[in-house]
Amino acid sequence: MLKVGILGGGQLGRMLLQAAANYPVETFVLENNEHCPAGHLCHYFTKGDIRNFDDVYNFGKGLDAITIEIESVNEDALEKLESEGVKVYPKPSALRIIKNKIKQKEFYKEHQVPTPAFVVTNNLDDLKAKSDFLPAVHKIGMGGYDGRGVQVIKTADDISRGFDAASVLEKLVNIHKEIAQIVAINDKGETAIYPPVDMVFDPLLNLLDYQISPADLPKETLWKIEAVAIKLVKELKTPGIFAVELFVDKQGEVFVNETAPRVHNSGHHTIEANYSSQFDMLWRVILGYPLGNTAHILPAAIVNLIGDNNHSGVANYQGLNDVLKMENVFVHIYGKSQTKPGRKMGHITILSKEKNDLVYTAHKIKQTIKVISK
Ligand code: ADP
Repeated sequence: MLKVGILGGGQLGRMLLQAAANYPVETFVLENNEHCPAGHLCHYFTKGDIRNFDDVYNFGKGLDAITIEIESVNEDALEKLESEGVKVYPKPSALRIIKNKIKQKEFYKEHQVPTPAFVVTNNLDDLKAKSDFLPAVHKIGMGGYDGRGVQVIKTADDISRGFDAASVLEKLVNIHKEIAQIVAINDKGETAIYPPVDMVFDPLLNLLDYQISPADLPKETLWKIEAVAIKLVKELKTPGIFAVELFVDKQGEVFVNETAPRVHNSGHHTIEANYSSQFDMLWRVILGYPLGNTAHILPAAIVNLIGDNNHSGVANYQGLNDVLKMENVFVHIYGKSQTKPGRKMGHITILSKEKNDLVYTAHKIKQTIKVISK
């Protein structure tokens, strides 16, 4: 059996391991905390820091392949492992491009992947000097996540909110829809593309509010999204699974916002809603099996279970009983013992042929369930 390691034992690692149970594979997880969501689901757990060279290198040494659940890993160690014959999904070369928003944007520009116009700023003075580029969005080059490294800078008065570090200053797009497009690509360069997802954000928390799959878009826009996502993934020259996040503006133009080189929050509905889930698909890629069928069985919506704003401590899922009584609703709780404001604690998938029903039930679920502390 192939030995495959996952860097990170959070919810994505957990769902990957749930899918791994269907395949002949021995699984290994590296994570700092043995009580992490994925800890008890792997064959072998190693306690260690995914950002530390020695920890990653020693973890990966005897393995056949390694993958990630988050970008913030030590890619120097992955590069060394790759040079010694361990297959890495995605390749460290692609990870290096994606990890740094500046490199990522430059990569899009170089490969004619449509993306909002941008300039690079090195510090706040530099940002001030480029105020003729406003209104824009300032994005820190390294270390931003879940909206934490992003600031909208509309006028010169907002400049103090910007980052005093190497960042991208990107033109503000008049967004009609935010779309996520998941694409898988195997060692042979064959691709599989999922129906695109419409992501609706919570303007306060900047975390995904709910999402609908497939996204309701004109055919021409769908074709553009598909062409852009496939080109981008091919240009990255690595097998793996990718979530390409795009903006569709009010004119129907398509721009790539960013790419995640891994399974992604925007693909969780594929567990129930599509023939081959994003997690199943990544195992097919890593283990060298045929790519799966990405078609949807039924349209789906996802609601994230987010820690309530006023609660920190041992998690309690208030209203869970009522949600479990609903039809065609699937609850995934990630097994994090502690909740805190804004923490992703789980997600709930809704299946229905009727789009109205999906949106109605998504809102109903949001009103019914709360993650509070005991
Ligand atoms: P993160 O990597 O932290 O998720 P993103 O780059 O995806 O950050 O930005 C977070 C959100 O900010 C996006 O989902 C979008 O709503 C908004 N945003 C980002 N870039 C732009 C832009 N160029 N124009 C308008 N809104 C943007």
